[in-house]
Amino acid sequence: MINLILFGPPGSGKGTQAAKLVDKYQLLHISTGDLFRYEIGNSTPLGLEAKSYMDRGMLVPDSVTIGMLRNKVEANPDVAGYIFDGFPRTIPQSEALNALMGEKGQRISKLIMLQVSDEELVERLKERGKTSGRPDDANEEVIRKRIDVYKAETSPVFDFYAEYGRSIKINGVGGIEEIFDRLCAEIDSL
Ligand code: ADP
Repeated sequence: MINLILFGPPGSGKGTQAAKLVDKYQLLHISTGDLFRYEIGNSTPLGLEAKSYMDRGMLVPDSVTIGMLRNKVEANPDVAGYIFDGFPRTIPQSEALNALMGEKGQRISKLIMLQVSDEELVERLKERGKTSGRPDDANEEVIRKRIDVYKAETSPVFDFYAEYGRSIKINGVGGIEEIFDRLCAEIDSL
């Protein structure tokens, strides 16, 4: 199995690239942001709780996020591998993911980080906000808050997997195909 973590700040292109990777490698794409938006769309208790954090640019509590992720993985055991997008975002989430993979006799193959400057991120997210309908893209203050939360709470996840020698960074600026080729080169070398 190939189990990838697609990593990087909000707006770095994880969702765009994950969709292309799924096509090429037949992996299951699990985006915790998409899962939360699905729950919000159905007005479930989980969705209502998540929304109160997401709209402020904060992380949803680990207990909620980890439970939801575990359900999704356990509901899809027979896949060629997983692409985790937007998860793990904290060290406790990383530990929970390692435990979950361990239970399946699996491990994370690679964490690949898409590197993009803060100013480019803000521009991309403001642009996306014009059409995405996402409340967290509509306000520059919330966008900047998400980038700050990424630096404080999420960036340590890179170092967590670097300790196992499994973290790498690639340039996330350029054309979509160009970045996709950089990602494929890393995956094909696994
Ligand atoms: P982006 O990476 O563009 O910010 P996502 O769709 O990945 O978009 O996430 C949107 C929001 O959903 C986050 O700002 C956060 O509030 C919540 N969220 C998504 N994944 C997680 C996670 N693993 N842990 C906690 N909160 C999360």
